[in-house]
Amino acid sequence: MGSGDEREGLPSASGIETIKLCPGSFNYKKLFPRVESGDANEGTIRHDLIEQVIVGDLAIDDITDQQQHECTSRALMILKKIEKEIGVGTFDTQWLEKRVWLNHGEDKLYSAKYDLLRCYRTGDSYVHLLVDWKTLYGDHTPAQNNIQLLAQAMAVYRNSSEVSKIYCALAEPFPTPTYSLVEYSPDRLDELESMLREVVGKANDPDAPRQPGLKQCKYCDGLAYCPEVKEEIEKASAVKAEETDLATALELAVLADKWATAVKSRARGSLNDGGEIEGWKLRSSGSVKSIKDADACAKAIMETNQLDWTELLSASSISWSKLIKAWQTKRQISRKEAIEELLKVLDGVVHETPKSPSLIKAK
Ligand code: SF4
Repeated sequence: MGSGDEREGLPSASGIETIKLCPGSFNYKKLFPRVESGDANEGTIRHDLIEQVIVGDLAIDDITDQQQHECTSRALMILKKIEKEIGVGTFDTQWLEKRVWLNHGEDKLYSAKYDLLRCYRTGDSYVHLLVDWKTLYGDHTPAQNNIQLLAQAMAVYRNSSEVSKIYCALAEPFPTPTYSLVEYSPDRLDELESMLREVVGKANDPDAPRQPGLKQCKYCDGLAYCPEVKEEIEKASAVKAEETDLATALELAVLADKWATAVKSRARGSLNDGGEIEGWKLRSSGSVKSIKDADACAKAIMETNQLDWTELLSASSISWSKLIKAWQTKRQISRKEAIEELLKVLDGVVHETPKSPSLIKAK
């Protein structure tokens, strides 16, 4: 167990789908260093912003980044829609980012950290709503089949004295705001507990098999080392191309792509640490210069009297989100109003370019 590991080296709800699909991954990935991705950090920032707005520590219009602002406002809109669908009014209590444990007798089985839990009490009825924000684009399992949400609901159920029902919602602000919802009664949760216990039990077995697949391998810390993944790719590439349909080939291509990235990153890390890989070395790719302080840059250039403002601006780009923030601050208006005003002022100057569609798995 690493110091400061709030999971205490035990499985967690967020990884339960992975260990269900590949029971051997729980023990295997502990052998390898954690690779932090940029996307995960952006996801954490977006979760924090939603949380701060929900508890009233931050005004939504103070979020300067356009995507983060959009994400938060869509998340709150989705939350209202969910509450309307399940027919609840004002909540009595809410908890955010809290970790709870599911125990079996004296033993801790797994922990679950939920994004948001609200409890609504009407007479003798205690309705709970668990919300999981999926703040980045991606392939997310709908609430009805989502074992992570079930694991969270189970831990909440076992740690609450009064539960009439628990709704679990998966809220996805992007690409279009949407959510999926599932309802668990106490009876249903009683029935499902043994299945969760079995998943965790198999994962703890030192001989648990490793079973490759895109969903489970994608974020596995052992991906760059895993012999089963390499075998899977080799086996599939030995099949004649005409005997493989495009959907199967695509699944393998994405897995192979992730694997290749993980292997290259492992190799770079090893060479950087002074390791040796026969026939390979690191070559410097040079450096990139950038200007962080536009104000200081403009002053310095204008003092030379070499370029005029038009020439200087032809070498600059203006950030749409920073311009909105500057306008909003100066005019003391909401972000929405700032955008409306700027679009009028800059009529014909602001261009909107659609991004190319990304290839994702259909649900
Ligand atoms: S890389 Fe895939 S198959 Fe290997 S341990 Fe991880 S999840 Fe399992």
